[in-house]
Amino acid sequence: MPNHLDALERVINDIVRPDAPSVDADGTFPRRGIDALGEAGILGLTIAEPLGGGGSLADAVDVVRRLAEACGSTAMVVLMHYAAAALLDGYGDETVREAIGSGQHLTTLAFSEEGSRSQFWAPLSTATRTDGRIRLDAKKSWITAAGEADSYVWSSRPVAGEGPMSLWLVPSDAPGLSPPGRFDGLGLRGNRSSPVEATGVVVPEDAALGADGAGLDLALQMVLPWFLVLSGALGVGLMDAVTTETGSHLTATRLEHLGERLVDQPMARADHARMRIATDQVAALVGEAVAAIAAGRPEAPLRALEVKAAAGETAITVTELAMKLCGGSAFRKELGIERRFRDARAARVMAPTTDALLDFVGRAINGMALL
Ligand SMILES: Cc1cc2nc3c(=O)[nH]c(=O)nc-3n(C[C@H](O)[C@H](O)[C@H](O)COP(=O)(O)OP(=O)(O)OC[C@H]3O[C@@H](n4cnc5c(N)ncnc54)[C@H](O)[C@@H]3O)c2cc1C
Repeated sequence: MPNHLDALERVINDIVRPDAPSVDADGTFPRRGIDALGEAGILGLTIAEPLGGGGSLADAVDVVRRLAEACGSTAMVVLMHYAAAALLDGYGDETVREAIGSGQHLTTLAFSEEGSRSQFWAPLSTATRTDGRIRLDAKKSWITAAGEADSYVWSSRPVAGEGPMSLWLVPSDAPGLSPPGRFDGLGLRGNRSSPVEATGVVVPEDAALGADGAGLDLALQMVLPWFLVLSGALGVGLMDAVTTETGSHLTATRLEHLGERLVDQPMARADHARMRIATDQVAALVGEAVAAIAAGRPEAPLRALEVKAAAGETAITVTELAMKLCGGSAFRKELGIERRFRDARAARVMAPTTDALLDFVGRAINGMALL
């Protein structure tokens, strides 16, 4: 595997970090950064080694965490790409896998729907067989990188099989897909997470990703662990950024009439310590989830569920503390802290939402089925 971390740092320093404020302010998709990440081998990192990748979930965690420190929107686009690519690496055809491996193909997840909302495990959209091809009709409510990604990993009800869900690879320029609307969100404003409708979209039978009706099992086994753990990494990146930024502000800012810095106030130091401890706790949980998954330990699924809930809620607390500690400077956008404060609020409502995860964890630790 090439030394992707040097290349990643270059792209972050030259493009992702400088572009982050305008991506947020204007709600523009971070196209320059995504293209540069493709060229630097970062988008192909997790595909099989012979196709140019060979990176692990741990490598992806590192990438998403570093990106999130600089730009939450870019990190979310890459997170969704890695989660969808995890399935395509097993079930996508050679052409799409090669394109991902060479960094020329951005993919994403199209699971959430207008009807079943965050409960993606129960799609209402349809797949029907017509003249040996598959017709897809759907009202997808949120697709990160809608219209910017090259493909969508798409859920629907099965054509005829048992089970709640089938999965398909849908090109983002397929006739019958509505143009994505503008995304004007509270946070992650560059991630272009827009609704897309499918009306009579036709794909070949071999666009199926896995067996008809087996989509939920595949999503839970192959997509969800990546999505959950990388969401944890994104939260850690946001928390690291505001914790560092807060430290710089506290040490550089003076109360001149007292001859003191803000960091000389014991209460400020204690709150800053709380931020550091909370960030490091979640980082440790992310590491533990990665290790459990890599070793195939029995608690791995539980750790994956825990990590997104913990990271999502902790990132809200830590960014809130940063807003308080940095006062009006944070409120006035001088420090980039309020951007992370807004970005951090996405994880709570991204499926599985924090409330759904708490229910899943409660079920898992009490010997109950998740669904
Ligand atoms: C920035 C961003 C990017 C996104 N990108 C994608 C994407 O790329 N692909 C994609 O498929 N989706 C994506 N989504 C959609 C996301 O995964 C959720 O489906 C969506 O945010 C849910 O919003 P809703 O209003 O439909 O929630 P609702 O389903 O209406 O839920 C509202 C609230 O109800 C409660 N609730 C719902 N279900 C349960 C439950 N089972 N147990 C307990 N409480 C529950 C929770 O408190 C929840 O927050 C994205 C969302 C955001 C914010």
